[in-house]
Amino acid sequence: MQTQTLIIGAGLSGLALADRLQHAKEDYLVLEARARLGGRIHTKNVTSTLGQSNDFDLGPAWFWPGQPMVASLAQRFGLNVFEQYASGDLMYEDRHGQPHRGMGFASMEGSYRMDGGLTGLIKNLTKGLPEDRLHLSTRVVAITKKPDGLEVRAITGEREWSILAQSVVLAIPPRVAMSKIAFTPALPQAAQRAFSDIATWMAGQAKIMAVYERPFWREQGLSGDAMSQKGPMVEIHDASPAQNGPYALFGFVGVPANVRLARADEIVRLARDQLVRLFGPAMQNPLSITMQDWAGEEWTATASDQTPIGYHPAYHYPPQAEGLWDGRLLFGSTEVASQFGGYIEGALVAAKDAQARLAWQRLVAAS
Ligand SMILES: Cc1cc2nc3c(=O)[nH]c(=O)nc-3n(C[C@H](O)[C@H](O)[C@H](O)COP(=O)(O)OP(=O)(O)OC[C@H]3O[C@@H](n4cnc5c(N)ncnc54)[C@H](O)[C@@H]3O)c2cc1C
Repeated sequence: MQTQTLIIGAGLSGLALADRLQHAKEDYLVLEARARLGGRIHTKNVTSTLGQSNDFDLGPAWFWPGQPMVASLAQRFGLNVFEQYASGDLMYEDRHGQPHRGMGFASMEGSYRMDGGLTGLIKNLTKGLPEDRLHLSTRVVAITKKPDGLEVRAITGEREWSILAQSVVLAIPPRVAMSKIAFTPALPQAAQRAFSDIATWMAGQAKIMAVYERPFWREQGLSGDAMSQKGPMVEIHDASPAQNGPYALFGFVGVPANVRLARADEIVRLARDQLVRLFGPAMQNPLSITMQDWAGEEWTATASDQTPIGYHPAYHYPPQAEGLWDGRLLFGSTEVASQFGGYIEGALVAAKDAQARLAWQRLVAAS
């Protein structure tokens, strides 16, 4: 099998690049290791006893003013954008578990969300791609530089196959590329180190999503925002849809990844107790409560991501990747975006950057 451009990863960056190549009438293929699309964009559907249903974001949820590419994609697909719910008092929980009303400082007022969750972007991008361009449950295990292109070895179930591509875009976190793919000839040591040093944004984090029939916190004049020094959730926000239910709160978990992964059930139980302490006894019976632990996801997090970083790295295209394998091997996830690296906006910027690099490489090769 042959293709012009092989895109590894069907997260937002890989699908946005596929969308660009599709519109440019170019030849491409997308290979995705997971059985689902979206990568770090992932939602859980919950239906209330009243029959109301919504997709809740277990990965990213927000984007911000000044991020034009997400906004215009939402507009292109007719997706409803709304402001993060922030009316009412904030809560703060001290280290003894004592709640204090009106003392929190973690409001996300001014952030935008998308009705039905960010998977709306993924579903709509995919609709425009012919089915035979996209292979799910297909992990890339090796890439070999050959005289006539790059040979990509992939595994789908029991089947191992290879594709000859003129260019390969690694629309996957650079750390995941270094830990999952064998490159022949080996990449220079300094380049391998540089790529492995690029922290994958939010890969070490976990979110707990608790969904309710009614917004009990709003009914008491609370916004749903809370900070806690006791935990297990350290920062909590409203995650309900724009209108109607079911309603939800989500929290980032402040417990180290190794403990989370070993004691997930206990942490979820403690999180429910915490919601009762902060927002009252009605919180005891959610329709659904789930922990999505990204640190345990092999296609997102590596061993180096188990300790979350406490700052937002200054992401950029790594200089060691410039001109790699005659410019045929490119990086393309949000972590290498020229702007907004780490964010979903960055994933869209990375796709635009990758398309420009592909065009440049072809120009150079032809001259
Ligand atoms: C908990 C959490 C909260 C976040 N909150 C926000 C937020 O509010 N706002 C925001 O802007 N951003 C947020 N982010 C970051 C956001 O999720 C990312 O910027 C964005 O989703 C990255 O998209 P991507 O396509 O570049 O990478 P990914 O989504 O990681 O996609 C990479 C894809 O490649 C696949 N893959 C990996 N290796 C292989 C292989 N060898 N073969 C085939 N396929 C492979 C993976 O399965 C995955 O589908 C958050 C992230 C997390 C985890």
